[in-house]
Amino acid sequence: MSMDFLQIIEVSPRDGIQNETKLLSTKQKLMLIRKAHEAGITRMEVTSFVNPKRVPQMADADIVAQKHPQTLDAIGLILNRRGFERAVAAGLNEVNFVIVASETFSQRNQNTGTFETIKIMETLRTPPQQNIRLSVTIGAAFGCPFEGEVSISRLMNVVEAVMFYQPDELALADTIGVATPRDISERIRIIQRTYPDIPLRLHLHNTRNTGIANAWAGVEAGVRRLDASLGGTGGCPFAPNATGNIATEDLVYMLKRSGLPTGIDLDAAIDAAKWLEEQLGHSVPGQVMKAGRFPMSQNC
Ligand code: ZN
Repeated sequence: MSMDFLQIIEVSPRDGIQNETKLLSTKQKLMLIRKAHEAGITRMEVTSFVNPKRVPQMADADIVAQKHPQTLDAIGLILNRRGFERAVAAGLNEVNFVIVASETFSQRNQNTGTFETIKIMETLRTPPQQNIRLSVTIGAAFGCPFEGEVSISRLMNVVEAVMFYQPDELALADTIGVATPRDISERIRIIQRTYPDIPLRLHLHNTRNTGIANAWAGVEAGVRRLDASLGGTGGCPFAPNATGNIATEDLVYMLKRSGLPTGIDLDAAIDAAKWLEEQLGHSVPGQVMKAGRFPMSQNC
């Protein structure tokens, strides 16, 4: 494996807190973003432009998007055209458009079918908005909480329809944490073979404790962009029993000890995860924040 730089995209200000019953204040969210950025995160999903009636945790999306540090590559998650307009109005240069691979989950998540949602991409690529970076995340790319298995042929039909609109990046999301390392390698390699030029990203939930193994499988398959959330926080409000993402600091630890640089300071990431845990008022799943760094004395 080459010593390429690995980019970790922090998602705690969006995915990390959207499933929490306790609402963080705008000030706390901006502090979280600042702490993650100071730890070395350069690209971050800062919020999502969704209906505040459905996801009250994201009601202040417009303010959070306007006030993030200017040195940060901030991403806003969107589910539809309306979300896109709000993200652009808030001054963001990048959106992450979610398309769910299975019909039932797509309906529950964004009230439209999979291919109907993909068609919206056409309207996101027209002037004057064609300069907004458009990343696409395919949700439930490894399995659906309502329909069960999502076959490779179904996934590839969705990928093909998405790729028609030439996104800047393509992410596969294991929204409900059912993937295994073999699934990751298999699906990543098929997409790489079919579309060798698209940068690939993985969004992994640790619901069945396969998250970090899946991240490693992705890295071995050539993925250089991984989503993660401080403290292992996170979960989807529209998927039953959804739990957290892989923890940023756990991922940093594994990659660093494997000789793969991420540019993130492990101690600062651990501190930020502990700070987030305090704000949420309950323990979070991250492991390295509990066990501590290793070796103990060496600086990052
Ligand atoms: Zn997620």
